[in-house]
Amino acid sequence: MVRSRGAVSNDGSMMLPFAGSPLNRLSEKRPDAAWIAARLHAGRILPLWKQHVFVRGEKLLGAASVPHEAVFPLAAPGAACVFLGLDGEEALFALDVSAAENAGEALKDHGEFRELRASAPFLRKKDLAILSQAKGLIEWHVRHGFCSRCGAATAIGDAGHKRSCPRCEAEHFPRTDPAVIMLATHGEECLLACNKNWSPEFYSTLAGFVEPGESIEEAVRRELFEEAGVAAGKVSYFASQPWPFPSSLMIGCFAECESKALTLDPNEIADAIWFDKKTALDLIEGRIEGRRGPMRVAIAYHLIREWATAPLP
Ligand SMILES: [Zn+2]
Repeated sequence: MVRSRGAVSNDGSMMLPFAGSPLNRLSEKRPDAAWIAARLHAGRILPLWKQHVFVRGEKLLGAASVPHEAVFPLAAPGAACVFLGLDGEEALFALDVSAAENAGEALKDHGEFRELRASAPFLRKKDLAILSQAKGLIEWHVRHGFCSRCGAATAIGDAGHKRSCPRCEAEHFPRTDPAVIMLATHGEECLLACNKNWSPEFYSTLAGFVEPGESIEEAVRRELFEEAGVAAGKVSYFASQPWPFPSSLMIGCFAECESKALTLDPNEIADAIWFDKKTALDLIEGRIEGRRGPMRVAIAYHLIREWATAPLP
């Protein structure tokens, strides 16, 4: 197949936006408090504020760091501070400054807080991956302050990669929720849908969370049948993408359908259309007036492009 615009890594697999972080995560060093403290002292601090990342730049954005003396006074006592990894010799940390209502004003000389999804198309690819990791971890802390087993307040550990319960001694680790996202195909056509929660001109691939006790292939077939009433046969893996909104791992697949007959779930799907390859490409490249497809940083764009540009067998 012709490769779409996601980079291809050394082993030939796809490396899509939000992935491809250059950091060495050094997970074995996380419990070493003295090592972490020394790296924090000399490290770069990336602040996060109410689900917004901190960036700098004009047309091309980069992750912006802030000097210690400017950023630490903004963090509440016990605020999450997470070791992300080493960029060469330099350590990177993410710090939650959500408690400071004036954080944007206080740090305006160093950059600005922006929504990650809207900024993604303009961010350097490596910085998008780093900020994706930072956002995913900080938001996990924000949502997991209390033990899911006994309800007691938990304490941060392992340089921000664990929370421990002082009452029942449970240990809690950052979550990643697997979700399947699939391009359903039938011969030379593919199925794109408009979800009820999307704006009516937006069409994309179907998707859904993998449920307990389910394989990726089963989740793909179940979601397609539930949402569009189509029976899928062969399911093949394409690529995956971290999607920190708030903590998904999108598992991209192609699913060959046995028939084009649709029975849409009226609670989920407003409309679904079979697109031929040219029309699908026109949609994602913005060439159809009144309709639009997934943005280029999303795995849905790459699924559609990979399939639509594949040479005929
Ligand atoms: Zn507990």
